[in-house]
Amino acid sequence: MNRLLIRDGRIVDPGQGLDGNYDVLIEDGRIVEVALRGTLGNVAEAQVIDATGRWVTPGLIDPHVHLRDPGFPEKETIESGLRAAAAGGFTTVAAMANTSPVNDSPEITRYMLEAARRVGAARLIPVSAVSKGLLGREPVNYDEMAAAGARLFSDDGMPVDDEPLLLGAYDHMKRIGFAISLHEEERELSSAGAINEGATAMALGLGGIPVRAESARVSRDLALAIGNGAPVHIAHVSTAESIEVIRAARKSGAEVTCEVTPHHFTLHDSAVMRFGADAKMNPPLRGIEDVNALEAALADATIDMIATDHAPHDPGSKNAALLKGCFPCDPVARDCRLASTQAHAMTAAANGVIGLETALGLALSLVHRSVITPSRMVELMALNPARLLRLTQAGTLARGAMADLTIIDPELRWTVESAKLFSKGRNTPFAGMTLKGKATMTVVGGEIVYQAQQESK
Ligand SMILES: [Zn+2]
Repeated sequence: MNRLLIRDGRIVDPGQGLDGNYDVLIEDGRIVEVALRGTLGNVAEAQVIDATGRWVTPGLIDPHVHLRDPGFPEKETIESGLRAAAAGGFTTVAAMANTSPVNDSPEITRYMLEAARRVGAARLIPVSAVSKGLLGREPVNYDEMAAAGARLFSDDGMPVDDEPLLLGAYDHMKRIGFAISLHEEERELSSAGAINEGATAMALGLGGIPVRAESARVSRDLALAIGNGAPVHIAHVSTAESIEVIRAARKSGAEVTCEVTPHHFTLHDSAVMRFGADAKMNPPLRGIEDVNALEAALADATIDMIATDHAPHDPGSKNAALLKGCFPCDPVARDCRLASTQAHAMTAAANGVIGLETALGLALSLVHRSVITPSRMVELMALNPARLLRLTQAGTLARGAMADLTIIDPELRWTVESAKLFSKGRNTPFAGMTLKGKATMTVVGGEIVYQAQQESK
């Protein structure tokens, strides 16, 4: 029998209403008991982990990552992505369908699950495409995809423009019980833009993406969801207007959840001046009022969960060579307006930033600033994502649940070093930043899949 005893940690498990000092006993991959410290009997032969001064939480779950596998091994693989996830404290990640080939067939879903099993780090939940080839025309076979192991449906990267296709997907979701995750974008409004519409775009001479490009589509899709009963999830919400629309739709009876990324609640669009294409993503970083609204919505539970939208890219896709020397630029010190070839390079640069290894540190900054409590953070990063993915045995440390746990040192100060990341991606605006708090151990199914270096001495 494989026994693990985690001793003297602060258990933060909002699913059971627990926040206090307890011991956790694990046997053969399951939680056996959480008990007041020192009161557990029957702990002979258990491997003991001392969690004094640490938080012990249900394993973190990320409902939105891009692992680029199959298709783009220069950006990421299932192996490197799942090791990055484990190092960031994640025990489960939902991998989006915009791979090559697209995950629109049971064969690709099964390939992803099999590859993840071989890695033995974080677990992978395949996200099925909504439309074949992400082309927005013909639906996938929802039943077949669910039977193969998909637990979420999304054309992420692309909006579902076609209303009949979307309504058909809603009806199927209602029937099979899984959620659809929507990338909300009116491309007629966004396609000329590179970054958020505003002063930064003006100063750089780049096209702007208005907040309405997102909120107008959220409005349409949630109007269609009211009274429908389909579980609808809004991916990477970035604007105050979208938050308002979601609040109103929820009041009117839409079954809607939503997520925000750490980069959207941490940075505003002026960060593009410092980090260039490493601060370019879709939806873009927004203005300060939007960032403040996201923070308030994290605190008041309008936002249900944090998702990284981990999107690794190679330097070539970010047009790194063409943009050399453009950033950082201080608009007070000099004219930052890009020459036209550089503006084109910036506009054409791939969207996205990596996030698996920095998400927890950035979420903890909300805790350290008393925006949210530790318990609320675990709701956002474990309990609610588990519910979205219909994982009844995860997101909690209840007796009988899968033994997926994250041990966190909330006070540990560490500096993000690109060269030390497990991800193949180096596209992050947080390189060089010092964060407070980190996962020191990640346990999946009772096995230690990550241990921070200072822990293994
Ligand atoms: Zn997206």
